[in-house]
Amino acid sequence: MKDQVLIAGAGPVGLTMALELARYGVPVRVIDKIPEATHTSRAVAVWPRTLELLDRSGAAADIIAVGNKVTVANILSGGRPVASFALDALPSPYPFALMVPQYETEAVLRRHLAGHGVKPDLGVELLGFEQDGDGLSARLREPDGTERSEPYAFLVACDGAHSMVRHCLGLDFQGDTLGLDWTQGDFHLSGYPFPSSQMAIFWHEDGPLLFFPMAPDRARIITSLGPSTATPPVPLDQDAFQKMIDARGPGGIALTGTEWVSAFRINERQVENYRSGRVFLAGDAAHIHSPAGGQGMNTGMQDAINLAWKLALVIRGIGTAPALLDSYDLERRPVGALVIAASGRMTRIGTLADHTLQHVRDFVAHILMGLSPVQRALTGLMAEVSIGYPDSPLNGPFRGEATAGSRVRPVAGEVPFGSGDTPLFIACGGAGAAELAARFPRLVAASPRSDGGTFLSLVRPDGYFAAQVEEADWQALVPYLQQIGAER
Ligand SMILES: Cc1cc2nc3c(=O)[nH]c(=O)nc-3n(C[C@H](O)[C@H](O)[C@H](O)COP(=O)(O)OP(=O)(O)OC[C@H]3O[C@@H](n4cnc5c(N)ncnc54)[C@H](O)[C@@H]3O)c2cc1C
Repeated sequence: MKDQVLIAGAGPVGLTMALELARYGVPVRVIDKIPEATHTSRAVAVWPRTLELLDRSGAAADIIAVGNKVTVANILSGGRPVASFALDALPSPYPFALMVPQYETEAVLRRHLAGHGVKPDLGVELLGFEQDGDGLSARLREPDGTERSEPYAFLVACDGAHSMVRHCLGLDFQGDTLGLDWTQGDFHLSGYPFPSSQMAIFWHEDGPLLFFPMAPDRARIITSLGPSTATPPVPLDQDAFQKMIDARGPGGIALTGTEWVSAFRINERQVENYRSGRVFLAGDAAHIHSPAGGQGMNTGMQDAINLAWKLALVIRGIGTAPALLDSYDLERRPVGALVIAASGRMTRIGTLADHTLQHVRDFVAHILMGLSPVQRALTGLMAEVSIGYPDSPLNGPFRGEATAGSRVRPVAGEVPFGSGDTPLFIACGGAGAAELAARFPRLVAASPRSDGGTFLSLVRPDGYFAAQVEEADWQALVPYLQQIGAER
C-alpha cells in the first residue's frame, strides 16, 4: 500500500512507533528479521517522561503493573553515602523510575498493538530500499526465503545499533568507543542493604558497582571489568560476579541465582541526520551511549512518539507544512546529543581511576549533589521531564509564561494530551480556544483545561507547548495553524 509506513525492527522503539501510528489510523507494517521475540532483559529502566507519553495509548498502566517502582537513588563511595536523590519529588504523575525487563515492556507494547489489529511480521528482513519523491520501494525477504519489493510511503528505521538502513544511506555514525569493558546481569540475591524501592551506585577505587532492584530479591547488577583489550569482553559468571560484589559492594550481599548475564563496551555515537527523504532513523539506529542512567530505550521510544504524530498528520493529508517532518531531526538530534553527553559524564565520573581525583570527586559530589537545585536538575534530566524543544521550527508565538517548546506537565487523573485516534493540537482556554477548534476541526480540539490564567495555550499532540498568547489574542494563532495544516 502506497500510504503505508514500513517499520524496520520490532524492538521497543519499532513497537512504540507502530503503536502510535496504528492508534492514529495510519496503515503500518512492522517487520523484524528475528523469527521470534527475544527474552533477554536488556534495558531495565523506564523513566517518568516515557510513562507519561505511553499513557496516551494506555500502555503505561500495564507496564507499571509488571515493574518495580524505585523512588530513591543512592550513591556511596568507600561505604560512605555521597548523595541520595528523591525521585518521588519529580514533577510527574509517575514520580519513580520503573524497573522492568525490556521483554516485559515489549510484550505490553505488542499487546496494545494487537488491540489495533497490528501484529509484527517476524522473520521478515529488510534487504534494501529505493526512494523517490513519490514513495519508497522496500526489498524484503519473507520467512520462506522469497524476496520481493513492496511500495511504502515512508520507512522508519528502528533496526538497532547496527542499522542496515543507516549503512544503506551511507550516514556516518560519529563517535567513540570508551576504553573500559563492562559486565551486567539479572540476579536473584539476598542481603541488599536497601529496600527494593531504592537503587544504589557504589563508587569503588577499582570501578563502580550498580544495583537496579527489580523485586525485593532480584536486581540488575552492572560493574566494570577494566580496560578493554584486543579480545571482546566476556560476561562474568555468578561466582565471579559474587567476588566483584564482595570486593566493591557494602558486604553481606549473596547472589542466589542467575537469570541472564552479558558483557559490553560503551559506544557513544550519533547519526549525522535523523532523516533522509522518506526515511527516518529512531532509537539505537540513531544514537547509542552509556547505559549509565538507563536512557537508551527511553530516548528511542520518545523519538518514535515525536515522529509518529507528524507522520500521521502528513499521511492523513492534514499536515502540509514541510517543517512538520523536518522538525523531527531538529528536535530529536539535540536530545540524543544531550543524553550522550550526560550519560558519558556520569560514566566518566564513576570510573575515575586516579585516587586523588576520586577523593576530590567524592567531596565535591557530596556538596553539590546535596543542593536542591542540583538534585532537581539531575533527576529532571534522568527522568527526561526537563527535556523540551526550545529551538523547534514548530514553535509558534509565545507571549505568556510558558517556555517555547517546553513539556506540559500532565495532571494525574486527567486525559493526557494526544490520546484518542487523531493527532490533534489542544487549544487550552476559553472562547478563543473554541474559535480555533471550529476553524481547524481536523487539527485542533478545544479544552477548558487551563491553569486559571488569562493565556490560551496550544499544546502539541505529544504534550509540548506549541504556542501561548493572551486569550483575547487568539487570532494570532490562525497564521501559525494555517502553516501547519488544513483548515477544513
Ligand atoms: C546486551 C544489551 C544490554 C542492554 N542493556 C541496557 C540497559 O541496561 N539499559 C538501557 O537503557 N539499555 C540497554 N541496552 C540498550 C537497549 O536495549 C536499547 O537502547 C533498545 O533495545 C533500543 O531499542 P531499538 O528498538 O532502537 O533497537 P533494538 O532493541 O536493537 O531492536 C532492533 C530490532 O531490529 C531488528 N532488525 C535489525 N535489522 C533488521 C533488518 N534488516 N530487517 C528487519 N529487522 C531488523 C533486530 O532484529 C531487532 O529486533 C542494552 C542492549 C543490549 C544489546
